[in-house]
Amino acid sequence: ATPTAITAATSALTQAGLLVTRGTALETLAQATHFIFDKTGTLTAGRLAVQQVHVFSNKTESDCLQFAAALEQHSEHPIAKAILTRAGEYTLTAQSVVNTPGSGLHGEIAGEMWYLGTPSFIAEQTHLSVTDSQALQAGGDTVVVLATGQQVYAAFLLADELREGAAKLIADLYARGHRVSLLTGDHEAAAKRVADAVGITTVQSGLKPDDKLAFVRACQASGEVVAMIGDGVNDAPVLAQAQVSIAMGGGTQVARASADMILLSEQLSLLSKGVVQAKRTLVIVR
Ligand code: ADP
Ligand code: MG
Repeated sequence: ATPTAITAATSALTQAGLLVTRGTALETLAQATHFIFDKTGTLTAGRLAVQQVHVFSNKTESDCLQFAAALEQHSEHPIAKAILTRAGEYTLTAQSVVNTPGSGLHGEIAGEMWYLGTPSFIAEQTHLSVTDSQALQAGGDTVVVLATGQQVYAAFLLADELREGAAKLIADLYARGHRVSLLTGDHEAAAKRVADAVGITTVQSGLKPDDKLAFVRACQASGEVVAMIGDGVNDAPVLAQAQVSIAMGGGTQVARASADMILLSEQLSLLSKGVVQAKRTLVIVR
């Protein structure tokens, strides 16, 4: 590999918005066989909005939003932005907040422990079941539940838009004979909605960060070269594990730090150009 060809390709890609932060990234990208995508903030734009609030208690919708906002002030997840925006001005603060990536968060508000996250996270943490969670999830929205150890207070339904160029990128990857998978911590209907919209046929939902890691390791053990594309704190371990990793520029700091490349452009299909460019460079230099 002549250093000049690689330097030229690297700078062309950087100018287009695909920043190469690790020297070997292009060579590994050219060899990747399996492209694995996170959902929220990766295939979707990460500009979530609260669509509906279901209140299961005597608290008002705006009270519930305040408790949720007190917790979300401690999170970088795109869901946090959506809830904080909907809550407006914050009237409560939370202490000792613990984030569980891929699940939710909990912390103390006015002397009581509050939980916010997936229905299964709430069930594990509080032993309360969110009885109509299946009905809430059926529409394919992301569902976030607010509860204390004693009671379920509300559920927030959130929706996101697809990222520009997502369907084109997936079509390109399949056309070149690559394997493509979607891994998400979100529930099955939400995962399927996005997968169908962008054309991905292999989908794994309800995954914790460790499950994502196990999936990637299993692929590698069977000889695949994995390219991982993600944005969140929950994706940092898989980004580090993959042979080549791409973080979204708008994603979390820890994801960017774990990645070999950073996509600064809003256009996801730029990644397709990156793969072509990487392969061409390797052909030239050989
Ligand atoms: P993805 O893998 O699609 O990027 P995550 O693994 O980050 O999604 O999150 C999975 C699910 O965990 C979300 O759909 C949400 O229900 C819940 N969750 C994660 N982080 C938060 C948060 N900060 N606030 C509320 N819910 C959260
Ligand atoms: Mg994500």
